[in-house]
Amino acid sequence: MLKAVIFDVDGTLAETEEVHREAFNIVFKQAGVGWFWSPEQYRELLKVTGGKERIRHYAQTESMTDISDEDIASLHRLKTMRYAELLPHAATLRPGVERLIDECLSRSIRLAIATTTTEVNVDALDRAVGGALRLERFESVVGGITVPEKKPDPKVYQVALEKLGLNPDEAIAIEDAEAGVTAARGAGLRCLASPSFYTIEHDLSKATAVIESLADRGDGKPVTVDYLEMLAD
Ligand SMILES: [Mg+2]
Repeated sequence: MLKAVIFDVDGTLAETEEVHREAFNIVFKQAGVGWFWSPEQYRELLKVTGGKERIRHYAQTESMTDISDEDIASLHRLKTMRYAELLPHAATLRPGVERLIDECLSRSIRLAIATTTTEVNVDALDRAVGGALRLERFESVVGGITVPEKKPDPKVYQVALEKLGLNPDEAIAIEDAEAGVTAARGAGLRCLASPSFYTIEHDLSKATAVIESLADRGDGKPVTVDYLEMLAD
């Protein structure tokens, strides 16, 4: 029986990756490192999960081996601040997200978040969409501060399940990316995947089902609680 839905954030609830990319580029310019990430490059870089890890990976490919952990942490901190500033002007929830959250709440399906992004960024997203995420109704928000292990490590989903006090077969994950699907499946969860702008080329074949968006599961109908309950391995 389905008791909870656990959502990924970036790309799943909102197309936030473009805002992340813009924030990175502004900070790179201000810091004078001479880097600029194009959408095509960023699509590749997103295969590395976690902002700090992504910066380190890029520095290595640019042969900038002398960049310290402190430099990276500082760039990432500035980027998180910049992201929060940009978000209110750029964020909208993906189609069908608000409808599904409302239906879950009206049917007493519990809500949680399992993300590699920081908890601060989740709050920023909810504020940016005028509270449409109903974040205060989510029972647990597990992010990169609580669980440093990045997806595809299943830890963030395992912790979300622990906090809900549920077994994997009592919940379902909603994801947009290959690493996220792998993480959810690694925790034993069913996983509904809906690719976003930046993950359109990802291999999502490990998901229980792949759909276009939460507003259209392929037949023009939205994803409902009944549909989620029906999804089985
Ligand atoms: Mg995602």
